[in-house]
Amino acid sequence: MDLYEYQARDMFEAHGVPVLQGITATTPAEAKAAAEKIGSPVVVVKAQVKTGGRGKAGGVKIARSPEEAAARAEEILGLDIKGHVVQTVMVAEGADIAEEYYFSLLLDRANRRYLAMCSREGGMEIEQLAVERPEALARVPVDPNVGIDQAKADEIVATAGFEGADAVEIARVIQLLGKVYQGEDATLVEVNPLVKTGDGKIVALDGKVTLDENADFRHPAHAALADKSAEDPLEAKAKAKGLNYVKLDGSVGIIGNGAGLVMSTLDVVAYAGEEFPGQPKPANFLDIGGGASAEVMANGLEIILGDTQVKSVFVNVFGGITACDAVANGIVQAFELLAGRGEAVDKPLVVRLDGNNAELGRKILDDAGLAGLERVDTMDGAARRAAELAAR
Ligand code: GDP
Ligand code: MN
Repeated sequence: MDLYEYQARDMFEAHGVPVLQGITATTPAEAKAAAEKIGSPVVVVKAQVKTGGRGKAGGVKIARSPEEAAARAEEILGLDIKGHVVQTVMVAEGADIAEEYYFSLLLDRANRRYLAMCSREGGMEIEQLAVERPEALARVPVDPNVGIDQAKADEIVATAGFEGADAVEIARVIQLLGKVYQGEDATLVEVNPLVKTGDGKIVALDGKVTLDENADFRHPAHAALADKSAEDPLEAKAKAKGLNYVKLDGSVGIIGNGAGLVMSTLDVVAYAGEEFPGQPKPANFLDIGGGASAEVMANGLEIILGDTQVKSVFVNVFGGITACDAVANGIVQAFELLAGRGEAVDKPLVVRLDGNNAELGRKILDDAGLAGLERVDTMDGAARRAAELAAR
């Protein structure tokens, strides 16, 4: 989960990272009030969108009075920045910037450790710096079992070329950012720019944080950071039911067991769809996992049938520990459960059962004679049939 800048700012503050005051506003009047409350001669009005390059897109503007803050907020609210419409701005205390630096800490999966990146040349797009002048961007591996201790922080700032009092203070701030990263179970903490102010203070002026949702169970407080308004309603509903669901753009609903099988099902359906008018594509990713009960199957079907773009559904199951007869019984019961909820299955369903106890599973489905359900025993054949039904 990516955080908004203001959420990152609050998180930094909670861990003692030096930041400037910041107050969110959703109207020009609120922005004016925020600027009055901050009370600094200069404030910065900043679009709160989960994308980079806000500055260049006109989403970061300086104001020299509360009235000006309202005017700048008026301009920024509603702005479309790379497809993100600005609904909130943060009014921040203005900084007297002497120098702009860069720092980030991220997960280096391939090497099973963290990677710290630091540069004296912040503010600009770091991707560009990395390409044009890679020597100006220090890259220092960090052992996750140690984190950023004093020695590591000293190594990072020295590699980036900081000296004297700056090096000491930046090393202190970097250690605090390391605490944010590990303490909050983040996969990215980025500060661009990390600034030195006219009076020599080091301040995190912009913050980007990505939290590892797999660690949510350790952080009940993180639930409040989720962006309900931006969430897809079907994804939110699936999440509430504990399902692994991702909404896609097509018309063939997909249910499978095992992430790998579902991924390949998406490919096979997309390929099969090319043959048919309108070229139907997968409508979603949904992995109901290994031990899928009737209830999980019913919940999965309910989510998919609730997607108005869906024209047909492909249930692709390879029986393993949960054998096909159990899955077939799950499907039969799911039809009953859904009828009971007033959500009867009203779209054609193609089911492919293979693997452990496939014969028995197929027989259970045939005997049940469920309306709209077709059984096709090969993955390619079932994908083609589901695409054909969606194309009608
Ligand atoms: P981004 O473009 O989305 O990365 O937004 P940032 O928050 O990093 O702001 C972009 C640029 O605006 C910074 O690199 C600064 O040069 C400038 N800026 C942001 N806040 C202030 C401020 O308080 N004072 C001054 N003078 N410039 C600022
Ligand atoms: Mn920035």
